Amino acid sequence: MPLPAVPAPLKKSHANRVIHQLLLQMESSQWWSAARIQRYQLKQLRQLLAWAGQYSPHYRNVLQDIDLAQFELSDLQRLPVLSREQLRSQRQQLRCTQYPETHGAADEMMTSGSTGSPVVVDSTAQVAAIWSAISLRDHLWHRRDASLRNASIRWRVENIGMAPEGLEFPGWGAPFSDFYQTGPGYFLNSSSDVRDQASWLQRTNPQYLISHPSNLRALLQEIRKRSIKLPALIELRTVGEALDNDLRQLADEVLGLPLVDCYSCQEVGYIALQCPDHRHYHLQAEHLIMEVLDENNQACEPGQSGRIVLTSLGNYHLPLIRYDIGDYGELAEGCSCGRSLPVLRRIQGRVRNMLSLPDGSKRWPNLGFREIMSIADIRQFQLQQHSLQRIELKLVLATALDAGQEQKIRDILSRYLRFPGAIDISYHDSLPRSASGKFEDFVSLLD
Ligand SMILES: [Zn+2]
Repeated sequence: MPLPAVPAPLKKSHANRVIHQLLLQMESSQWWSAARIQRYQLKQLRQLLAWAGQYSPHYRNVLQDIDLAQFELSDLQRLPVLSREQLRSQRQQLRCTQYPETHGAADEMMTSGSTGSPVVVDSTAQVAAIWSAISLRDHLWHRRDASLRNASIRWRVENIGMAPEGLEFPGWGAPFSDFYQTGPGYFLNSSSDVRDQASWLQRTNPQYLISHPSNLRALLQEIRKRSIKLPALIELRTVGEALDNDLRQLADEVLGLPLVDCYSCQEVGYIALQCPDHRHYHLQAEHLIMEVLDENNQACEPGQSGRIVLTSLGNYHLPLIRYDIGDYGELAEGCSCGRSLPVLRRIQGRVRNMLSLPDGSKRWPNLGFREIMSIADIRQFQLQQHSLQRIELKLVLATALDAGQEQKIRDILSRYLRFPGAIDISYHDSLPRSASGKFEDFVSLLD
């Protein structure tokens, strides 16, 4: 089936013309060879470095002895990695004193992060246009019909859009409404009780639903429990947290629906979109370079997991060069869909989501929660590792467990985690999210 054509903007504005140009160009570049994409990246990287070397006090020092005319992609590894803490504390030094006039008005993106220490990234209208163009590309890749109803259950810091009403809009919102005649959009704050979320979905009866993985998991369980039918729904989408394949399986079991994920962050914008034909992701390589590094800062082989380090090619206001975003991931060899955009097989979340074992090893835990859910009616859960000897399972439940159920849950967890220490269960009315709204199933409190 041919991909849908790139739409021209319905709403004429300079910003929308820029987005349209970007989309047209991306429509073509997704089919370039890997070598051509790399040449394109290198050209952009040299331009960015030349600008940063001239206008950013930090990069003036870093780049002073580097000959950019001879600079290759492989030379990136000679440049220092930029940590989140550096970005937070050295923003004035990193920021360019000016950026190209064609990049439009200055903008700012703020992320509070999961650790609660806010980071501000200076950006431009050009960066926002890239963000919009990639969100339209996601729409084209997954062949969504904009005339249908789109529901979004997402976290907002203010108590807006709470159940039972939520919010209703005539369209899906920008950039979609600027390019398509869209159907109505519905919003519900994911802080609403999951039982109310399920009832709201029945009432709004959307074709598309987007939510955070942790919220979608609870919602799918509620839908299963009440045998709720959502006959119109054709696609589930997730955003904002690491997704495990368990959730894809649950979506298939409960609703028989595919799940489409994307990978983004506030500092950089969209990083990777799910391939239209597969579960893995394609890096948005026209706009960023991704490296995956091992503990010695050497590039990992495809299939080997490491730290994700990003260079944003579009931000000339605050250059993010080799920015350590704090996630772990794994690259893979090519894709049969015909796109040469590099393949990201998995995003594994953050180092603090890793389980530490007494023998000194660390790994991403398999929680076995599908099995645990069959023991009790669990609304929400979180595991916290307090020490090498103790993990706490925090539960939000309708009714407390009896001793037999508690023991069964401990047994399942010990088996899946292969953790030899104690597993304590505690009960809560609700489990708070981080300041950024992210929710983590497993949090290690060890250093
Ligand atoms: Zn593909």
